[in-house]
Amino acid sequence: MAHHSDVQVHKIQAAVLRKKGGPLNIESLQMEGPRDDEVLVRIVASGICRTDIDICEDWDSANTPVVLGHEGAGVVEQVGKLVKGVKQGDHVVLSYQSCGHCRQCRSGHPTDCSRFWEANFGFERLDGSNAMQRSGVRGHFFGQSSFATHALATERNLVKVPKDLPLEMLAPLGCGMQTGAGTVMNSLKASKGSSIAIFGTGAVGLAAVMAARIVEANPIIGVDIKPRRLELAGELGATHVINNRLDDVNSRITDITGSGVDYLVETTGDWRMQLLGIGVLNSHGTLADLTGRSGTYSLTEGRKIIGIIQGDAIPQRFIPKLITLFQEGEFPFDRFVKFYDFNEVNQAIADAQRGDTIKPVLRISHV
Ligand code: ZN
Repeated sequence: MAHHSDVQVHKIQAAVLRKKGGPLNIESLQMEGPRDDEVLVRIVASGICRTDIDICEDWDSANTPVVLGHEGAGVVEQVGKLVKGVKQGDHVVLSYQSCGHCRQCRSGHPTDCSRFWEANFGFERLDGSNAMQRSGVRGHFFGQSSFATHALATERNLVKVPKDLPLEMLAPLGCGMQTGAGTVMNSLKASKGSSIAIFGTGAVGLAAVMAARIVEANPIIGVDIKPRRLELAGELGATHVINNRLDDVNSRITDITGSGVDYLVETTGDWRMQLLGIGVLNSHGTLADLTGRSGTYSLTEGRKIIGIIQGDAIPQRFIPKLITLFQEGEFPFDRFVKFYDFNEVNQAIADAQRGDTIKPVLRISHV
């Protein structure tokens, strides 16, 4: 650790995206911080999420290189002087960032933060600064950029977790698990006897399946094209599974429910699936679009579409709830986690793209 005037600079290793489609290169970078309101976290593990892969695939190589990663878990190494809630040595899970000042944040709805886009996808702090500027790389992705040995977070996007839990396993809670389960429990408020279909049984969809089982929804219908994922959906709580390569989803759901489903969780981002989803809602049903890629919908009667971000979850409340459910065996997301070493990051991404791995998690350092 060196000092330049009063700014601390840390030497870190990070997986850097420099060109469209990758690969990510692990490089030595310099990172400033933490500022007074920031926490320097030594990353132990980071999940890889669909959003990381989408950005990698769509990257414009003319842009400044970036560090992705937004499902970090690690150990607090240093705190800024305004930080009250955590101290050095605490175990934390990182989640999405929010501004903390806008009306939505102040009224307890940080997923609707008026600066959500900048705070999570701006690749800089909300004041426009960037802690990795001297290396010519942008960080602060989801207030973390956790494909790295160290990340800067704030108290708004970290959750302290018990030290007796396997920290590396908790990494996916910060985005994918929170999004899928939060959609069912917080946004849709599905309850006993609600009928629900989940399109896409990847990590987010499977989290939705498990949450639907916990709230005793019935039927719980999983739809996907991968037999292995459908089998897992059945084991984790789906009462019915439909392979939409082989079966007619509309007629199967009509057969199962009679009049369509109360809730549809759409995780595929495919406009044909979105249209199909609307078609299988009952007359007061709600489609939850988790992909933000909604096309043009035409709705009739009382049907609704809602766009959902991060399952309307406040991480500091919802992640501890998911941890308790995990400990009780009710939310066994460890069933579809596969660990990779940090230097296997490109292999992990390739396995996820092919659908061979549902939730890759990078092991970056030891607890
Ligand atoms: Zn806000």
